Amino acid sequence: MNIHEYQGRELFLQYGIPCPAGIVAESPDAVVTATRQVGYPAVIKAQVLTGGRGKAGGVKLVHNEAEAREQGSRILGMQIKGLTVEKVLVVPAAAIRREFYVGLTVDRTNRALVLMVSASGGVDIEDLAVKNPDAILKVRFNPLTNLDLKAIRPILQQAFVTPALVAQAEDAVAKLYRLFVEKDCSLVEINPYALLDGDKLVALDAKVNIDDNGLVRHPELEVLRNPEESSADERQARRVGLSFVSMDGDIGCIVNGAGLAMATMDLIKHFGGNPANFLDVGGSSNPEKVLNALKIILNNPRVKAILINIFGGITRCDDIAKGILMATNQIQIPVPMVIRLIGTNDREGREILAQAGLTSSENLTEAVQRVVALGKKP
Ligand code: GDP
Ligand code: MN
Repeated sequence: MNIHEYQGRELFLQYGIPCPAGIVAESPDAVVTATRQVGYPAVIKAQVLTGGRGKAGGVKLVHNEAEAREQGSRILGMQIKGLTVEKVLVVPAAAIRREFYVGLTVDRTNRALVLMVSASGGVDIEDLAVKNPDAILKVRFNPLTNLDLKAIRPILQQAFVTPALVAQAEDAVAKLYRLFVEKDCSLVEINPYALLDGDKLVALDAKVNIDDNGLVRHPELEVLRNPEESSADERQARRVGLSFVSMDGDIGCIVNGAGLAMATMDLIKHFGGNPANFLDVGGSSNPEKVLNALKIILNNPRVKAILINIFGGITRCDDIAKGILMATNQIQIPVPMVIRLIGTNDREGREILAQAGLTSSENLTEAVQRVVALGKKP
């Protein structure tokens, strides 16, 4: 889960990471009021769930009320990478002497956490990572042990040089690490981590990604969820307990088990088709889930055919068949369905379907080839 800068800043403040407080505004009037409160000059910052806001013109310095209104009106409603700006953050403008970068993330390849630090922070850090990766200093460490300050000190000294700055950076990194671990983050980033007059380092941006699998432990973070992060179908799926991801193909998929769902999508691709979604109905036997799954898939006007692929283990094929019948009785299914059932109670399942005039197959390859062909029919 990705959260907005203003939400990330609140987490930084909770953990004691120096970060100027700001005010969120959703209308040009509110922007003017907020700039008056924080004082001029102020910075107006678009709150969208993507980076590169500065380069897109979504971060602007204003010196008076007229400028605040003008920029507030322009930024609210603007599009950044396809996302509409609905909120801005108003912060007092800081006189930046230098921009550093600090980030903490998971290095999956090396099965480690990695701290990244650079003395060349700012809006071009992504370019820097490509063109001059050596300018980003890294230390990997074991995720199962505590942060070893001795191990990270050399790169902090290299980037921040003076003892006063190194000490501040070290303190901030220790706090960032606590935030990362305690909140089950997958990424926390401060860019710019800015040097201000008086040798003060402060966070002027906050990027925090939370591992979705950790959210069950954090009701306090779940409330930060921004509905625009997922599609309407994904939100509907979450409400009814289905694991669902929208994709851009035209073959709707209902599968039990994430692994089988992935393998099914691979097979669809292999035979020249394109999945419209990933959908795992889960291991439980609940006909209602099949009905809900079909409803969500049929929301998507691109879907030309549906593949139901069930390998019955804990999931019982007769329950799945009942769910399919429930759906055909309750809703109109305007596209062809290919059903593959095998495993627990598959014979019973097949009988239930046959009585309703629906055929099903045992063979996955055959089923996938058929659904791909049906999807290609004009
Ligand atoms: P991003 O482009 O989405 O990462 O947005 P940032 O929050 O990092 O803002 C982009 C750039 O705006 C920063 O790198 C700074 O150079 C500048 N900026 C942000 N806040 C301030 C501020 O308080 N004062 C000044 N002078 N510049 C700022
Ligand atoms: Mn930034």
